[in-house]
Amino acid sequence: MFFPRLLCVFITGNRCPMVLFVCDHCGKCCTSLGRYIRIERQLSDMDYYCRNTITGEISPVHVAPEFAEEIDEDFTTGSAGSRPGCIFLRRNPHGPGQVCAIYSTRPQICREFRCYHMIIYNSKGEPAGRMVGRADIQTADPVLTTIWNDEVKPLPCPATHCGDPTWVNSVCAILAGHGYRGETVKGGYA
Ligand code: SF4
Ligand code: SF4
Repeated sequence: MFFPRLLCVFITGNRCPMVLFVCDHCGKCCTSLGRYIRIERQLSDMDYYCRNTITGEISPVHVAPEFAEEIDEDFTTGSAGSRPGCIFLRRNPHGPGQVCAIYSTRPQICREFRCYHMIIYNSKGEPAGRMVGRADIQTADPVLTTIWNDEVKPLPCPATHCGDPTWVNSVCAILAGHGYRGETVKGGYA
Protein backbone atom coordinates (compact mmCIF):
# COMPACT_ATOMS: atom_id res chain seq x y z
CA MET A 1 0.00 0.00 0.00
CA PHE A 2 1.22 3.47 -0.87
CA PHE A 3 1.82 5.88 2.01
CA PRO A 4 3.24 9.30 1.15
CA ARG A 5 5.75 10.93 3.45
CA LEU A 6 4.15 12.91 6.24
CA LEU A 7 5.47 15.92 8.08
CA CYS A 8 4.69 17.75 11.31
CA VAL A 9 2.35 16.02 13.71
CA PHE A 10 -0.01 18.55 15.34
CA ILE A 11 -1.65 17.78 18.63
CA THR A 12 -4.99 19.48 18.17
CA GLY A 13 -6.44 18.94 21.62
CA ASN A 14 -8.83 16.43 20.07
CA ARG A 15 -8.53 12.69 20.10
CA CYS A 16 -7.09 12.66 16.58
CA PRO A 17 -3.75 14.32 15.89
CA MET A 18 -3.38 16.00 12.52
CA VAL A 19 -0.53 15.57 10.06
CA LEU A 20 0.39 17.48 6.93
CA PHE A 21 0.02 15.58 3.71
CA VAL A 22 2.89 15.62 1.24
CA CYS A 23 2.07 14.38 -2.24
CA ASP A 24 4.41 11.75 -3.69
CA HIS A 25 3.45 12.67 -7.25
CA CYS A 26 2.16 9.23 -8.10
CA GLY A 27 -0.29 10.90 -10.51
CA LYS A 28 -3.17 8.54 -9.74
CA CYS A 29 -5.61 11.33 -8.94
CA CYS A 30 -4.80 13.19 -12.14
CA THR A 31 -5.28 10.03 -14.16
CA SER A 32 -8.77 9.47 -12.72
CA LEU A 33 -10.05 12.91 -11.68
CA GLY A 34 -8.10 14.44 -14.55
CA ARG A 35 -10.37 12.78 -17.12
CA TYR A 36 -12.87 15.48 -16.27
CA ILE A 37 -10.49 18.36 -16.98
CA ARG A 38 -10.74 19.44 -20.61
CA ILE A 39 -9.21 22.30 -22.55
CA GLU A 40 -12.02 24.54 -23.71
CA ARG A 41 -9.97 26.99 -25.70
CA GLN A 42 -6.31 27.84 -26.31
CA LEU A 43 -5.43 31.49 -25.73
CA SER A 44 -1.67 31.32 -26.35
CA ASP A 45 1.02 28.65 -26.25
CA MET A 46 0.96 28.90 -22.45
CA ASP A 47 -2.61 29.95 -21.64
CA TYR A 48 -5.86 28.03 -21.91
CA TYR A 49 -9.42 27.98 -20.74
CA CYS A 50 -10.18 24.71 -18.97
CA ARG A 51 -13.54 23.13 -18.29
CA ASN A 52 -14.38 20.91 -15.36
CA THR A 53 -16.81 18.62 -17.17
CA ILE A 54 -18.47 17.57 -13.91
CA THR A 55 -19.51 21.02 -12.75
CA GLY A 56 -19.17 22.91 -16.04
CA GLU A 57 -16.87 25.43 -14.34
CA ILE A 58 -14.48 27.17 -16.74
CA SER A 59 -11.19 28.58 -15.46
CA PRO A 60 -8.16 30.26 -17.04
CA VAL A 61 -4.94 28.28 -16.56
CA HIS A 62 -1.29 29.04 -17.23
CA VAL A 63 1.23 26.38 -18.23
CA ALA A 64 4.70 26.43 -16.66
CA PRO A 65 7.31 27.32 -19.33
CA GLU A 66 9.06 23.94 -19.28
CA PHE A 67 5.85 22.18 -20.36
CA ALA A 68 4.47 24.76 -22.77
CA GLU A 69 5.80 23.26 -25.98
CA GLU A 70 4.78 19.65 -25.36
CA ILE A 71 1.29 20.57 -24.19
CA ASP A 72 0.79 22.96 -27.09
CA GLU A 73 1.85 20.19 -29.47
CA ASP A 74 -0.38 17.58 -27.82
CA PHE A 75 -3.32 19.95 -27.96
CA THR A 76 -2.87 21.24 -31.49
CA THR A 77 -2.17 17.79 -32.96
CA GLY A 78 -5.04 16.22 -31.06
CA SER A 79 -2.76 13.62 -29.46
CA ALA A 80 -4.01 14.74 -26.04
CA GLY A 81 -7.02 12.48 -26.50
CA SER A 82 -4.84 9.38 -26.38
CA ARG A 83 -3.32 10.33 -23.02
CA PRO A 84 -4.72 8.66 -19.90
CA GLY A 85 -6.09 11.31 -17.56
CA CYS A 86 -5.35 15.00 -17.65
CA ILE A 87 -3.42 16.65 -20.47
CA PHE A 88 -1.63 18.77 -17.88
CA LEU A 89 -0.17 15.78 -16.04
CA ARG A 90 3.49 15.61 -17.04
CA ARG A 91 6.62 13.73 -16.06
CA ASN A 92 8.41 15.48 -13.20
CA PRO A 93 11.56 17.03 -14.71
CA HIS A 94 13.12 17.48 -11.28
CA GLY A 95 12.60 14.06 -9.71
CA PRO A 96 10.44 10.94 -9.64
CA GLY A 97 6.77 10.84 -10.49
CA GLN A 98 4.56 13.30 -12.25
CA VAL A 99 3.55 16.90 -11.73
CA CYS A 100 0.80 19.31 -12.72
CA ALA A 101 1.94 21.66 -15.49
CA ILE A 102 -0.59 24.30 -14.38
CA TYR A 103 -0.14 23.82 -10.65
CA SER A 104 -0.40 27.47 -9.59
CA THR A 105 -3.58 28.00 -11.62
CA ARG A 106 -5.09 24.48 -11.40
CA PRO A 107 -8.89 24.25 -11.24
CA GLN A 108 -10.78 24.34 -7.96
CA ILE A 109 -11.66 20.65 -8.10
CA CYS A 110 -7.93 19.86 -8.07
CA ARG A 111 -7.25 22.27 -5.19
CA GLU A 112 -9.88 20.61 -3.04
CA PHE A 113 -8.89 17.03 -3.80
CA ARG A 114 -7.43 14.83 -1.08
CA CYS A 115 -6.59 11.25 -1.91
CA TYR A 116 -7.21 10.21 1.69
CA HIS A 117 -8.31 11.85 4.92
CA MET A 118 -6.95 9.68 7.70
CA ILE A 119 -4.13 7.21 8.25
CA ILE A 120 -4.71 4.39 10.71
CA TYR A 121 -1.87 2.70 12.57
CA ASN A 122 -2.02 -0.64 14.35
CA SER A 123 -0.76 -1.33 17.88
CA LYS A 124 2.78 -1.82 16.53
CA GLY A 125 2.72 1.66 15.03
CA GLU A 126 2.57 0.29 11.49
CA PRO A 127 0.29 1.83 8.85
CA ALA A 128 -2.74 -0.45 8.66
CA GLY A 129 -5.20 1.49 6.52
CA ARG A 130 -6.45 4.82 5.38
CA MET A 131 -9.79 6.53 5.02
CA VAL A 132 -10.74 7.63 1.51
CA GLY A 133 -13.77 9.38 0.09
CA ARG A 134 -16.44 10.36 2.60
CA ALA A 135 -16.02 7.43 4.98
CA ASP A 136 -14.53 4.44 3.19
CA ILE A 137 -11.48 2.51 4.21
CA GLN A 138 -8.59 0.99 2.28
CA THR A 139 -6.94 -1.75 4.29
CA ALA A 140 -5.67 -5.31 4.06
CA ASP A 141 -6.27 -5.79 7.80
CA PRO A 142 -9.43 -7.93 8.31
CA VAL A 143 -9.81 -6.84 11.95
CA LEU A 144 -9.74 -3.19 10.97
CA THR A 145 -12.21 -3.87 8.17
CA THR A 146 -14.63 -5.41 10.66
CA ILE A 147 -14.24 -2.54 13.13
CA TRP A 148 -14.88 -0.04 10.37
CA ASN A 149 -17.91 -1.82 8.97
CA ASP A 150 -19.48 -2.67 12.34
CA GLU A 151 -18.73 0.45 14.37
CA VAL A 152 -17.60 3.34 12.19
CA LYS A 153 -19.97 3.00 9.26
CA PRO A 154 -23.11 3.13 11.44
CA LEU A 155 -22.02 6.45 13.01
CA PRO A 156 -24.23 9.34 11.91
CA CYS A 157 -22.17 11.10 9.27
CA PRO A 158 -22.44 14.86 8.71
CA ALA A 159 -24.21 15.68 5.44
CA THR A 160 -21.32 17.70 4.08
CA HIS A 161 -18.30 15.58 4.85
CA CYS A 162 -17.04 12.99 7.29
CA GLY A 163 -14.05 15.20 8.01
CA ASP A 164 -16.24 16.87 10.64
CA PRO A 165 -14.18 17.08 13.89
CA THR A 166 -16.88 15.49 16.05
CA TRP A 167 -17.25 12.57 13.67
CA VAL A 168 -13.47 12.20 13.32
CA ASN A 169 -12.98 12.15 17.08
CA SER A 170 -15.68 9.51 17.46
CA VAL A 171 -13.89 7.39 14.86
CA CYS A 172 -10.54 7.80 16.57
CA ALA A 173 -12.09 6.87 19.92
CA ILE A 174 -13.49 3.67 18.39
CA LEU A 175 -10.12 2.86 16.82
CA ALA A 176 -8.29 3.54 20.09
CA GLY A 177 -10.62 1.13 21.87
CA HIS A 178 -9.27 -1.60 19.60
CA GLY A 179 -5.61 -0.62 19.82
CA TYR A 180 -5.49 1.39 16.58
CA ARG A 181 -4.56 5.04 16.18
CA GLY A 182 -6.01 7.44 13.61
CA GLU A 183 -4.28 10.55 12.32
CA THR A 184 -6.22 13.01 10.20
CA VAL A 185 -4.52 14.49 7.17
CA LYS A 186 -4.43 18.19 6.41
CA GLY A 187 -3.90 19.54 2.91
CA GLY A 188 -4.14 17.86 -0.47
CA TYR A 189 -2.26 17.65 -3.73
CA ALA A 190 0.89 19.67 -3.10
S1 SF4 B 1 -2.60 13.66 -4.35
FE1 SF4 B 1 -2.68 12.50 -6.28
S2 SF4 B 1 -0.55 12.48 -7.03
FE2 SF4 B 1 -0.50 13.02 -4.84
S3 SF4 B 1 -0.21 11.09 -3.73
FE3 SF4 B 1 -2.43 11.49 -3.84
S4 SF4 B 1 -3.12 10.37 -5.67
FE4 SF4 B 1 -0.88 10.59 -5.83
S1 SF4 C 1 -3.97 18.81 -10.61
FE1 SF4 C 1 -3.26 19.44 -12.67
S2 SF4 C 1 -2.65 17.54 -13.70
FE2 SF4 C 1 -3.96 16.98 -11.96
S3 SF4 C 1 -6.05 16.82 -12.78
FE3 SF4 C 1 -5.79 18.90 -11.96
S4 SF4 C 1 -5.11 20.10 -13.73
FE4 SF4 C 1 -4.80 17.97 -14.26
